[in-house]
Amino acid sequence: MDEVKMDHKPRPIQIVIDNKDHTFSLDEEQLSHVLLREDIKDRYVVVVSVVGACRKGKSFILDFFLRYLNVKYIENKSTSDWLGPQDVPLEGFSWRGGYERETTGIQMWSEVFLGELDSGDKVAIVLLDTQGAFDKKDCATVIALSTMISSVQIFNLSENIREDDLQYLQQFTEYGRLALADSGKTPFQRLQFLVRDWSYPYEAEYGALGGQKILQKKLQVNDKQHPKLQSLRNHIRSCFTEIACFLMPHPGLQVATSPHFDGKLKDITDEFKQNLQILVPMLLAPENLVLKQINGQKVKARDLVQYFKSYLNICSGNKLPEPKSVLVATAEANNLSAVADAKDVYIALMEDVCGGNKPYLNTLKHRTIKNKALLQFVRKPKMGGEEFSEKYKLQLEKKNV
Ligand code: GDP
Ligand code: MG
Repeated sequence: MDEVKMDHKPRPIQIVIDNKDHTFSLDEEQLSHVLLREDIKDRYVVVVSVVGACRKGKSFILDFFLRYLNVKYIENKSTSDWLGPQDVPLEGFSWRGGYERETTGIQMWSEVFLGELDSGDKVAIVLLDTQGAFDKKDCATVIALSTMISSVQIFNLSENIREDDLQYLQQFTEYGRLALADSGKTPFQRLQFLVRDWSYPYEAEYGALGGQKILQKKLQVNDKQHPKLQSLRNHIRSCFTEIACFLMPHPGLQVATSPHFDGKLKDITDEFKQNLQILVPMLLAPENLVLKQINGQKVKARDLVQYFKSYLNICSGNKLPEPKSVLVATAEANNLSAVADAKDVYIALMEDVCGGNKPYLNTLKHRTIKNKALLQFVRKPKMGGEEFSEKYKLQLEKKNV
């Protein structure tokens, strides 16, 4: 019954809200409503996010992601013509921001797409759109947040990759460096540069190969560079398991300049559409999905809620959180997710011995079950060190769960 009542048309939901006083808050209710659904909460997540300067086509490209995701994961149809008919306006995250308000924040698509990997892992695909003027300080918080939360961070750039863009990346990968030092695991998964309106195809061809060429040049380290530039490059590389770049052609004058353009395919250049057909499956086909990992462990939808909460707690001040506090927040969420796993073990075992028509349970049996749950917590690799985890273990011990 609830399902019917709550079943809105899929739409963007503002989960990270700009309070206009340089602080942010989380719409935990909406976030939980999406991620804690019974058929979603225990799935591993793939979190795809797009960041970059405003009015550079982030939301526009995300709406093509939505088209693909709908055909592939909702309609379960062949993806041979997922782009759809020529004369249907493009909908989803709102683009065309003619009179865009000066807001920053993160939107999530209210519909999570369910897929299965070759490994058999059942996954939930979450799309995030970010808003904000790239050069403002508040926006750095949004970018840092989305980088920490996503498994595929798409860095949307206009025309080229510039030194400034790399500098910008360094700022928020600093968290990653600390996390790396703590756990020895590569902190983030995939960084995808997406260069729009690439206009030197004779120098590097459109698509992933040309992108690779440009990226190699930009991330190259050599002795002639200033040591700062060298360490910046090494640093970015060490934070991501995979870094790729894709060069998109210009979509045509209608898209770029017409006030009447509403996203119909017929108004977009063939070149752009051809490259969309390569780019989108490259990111979203089941064999290319990248699971979110933190501390080398796959993150479930339920855990993601906890990470959002812990990160937002430290993003409520009026400046970018200290890298150290980000690390603590990550360790906190990580331990809380281990607590949740232990509780699951407890509940499942209790179900077994006293569910249904077996109402009695002796103390000894209960203690055994509780110990098993505790063991589950202890065995799970956690961040922050043993001392840090102790208080969560005590929480579990004290609770008669
Ligand atoms: P966002 O602020 O980055 O989310 O940008 P939007 O997706 O709202 O798009 C802003 C404007 O850019 C719209 O008018 C689009 O028609 C246009 N646009 C979308 N993609 C491209 C592109 O690849 N190149 C150019 N030049 N314009 C684009
Ligand atoms: Mg947008």
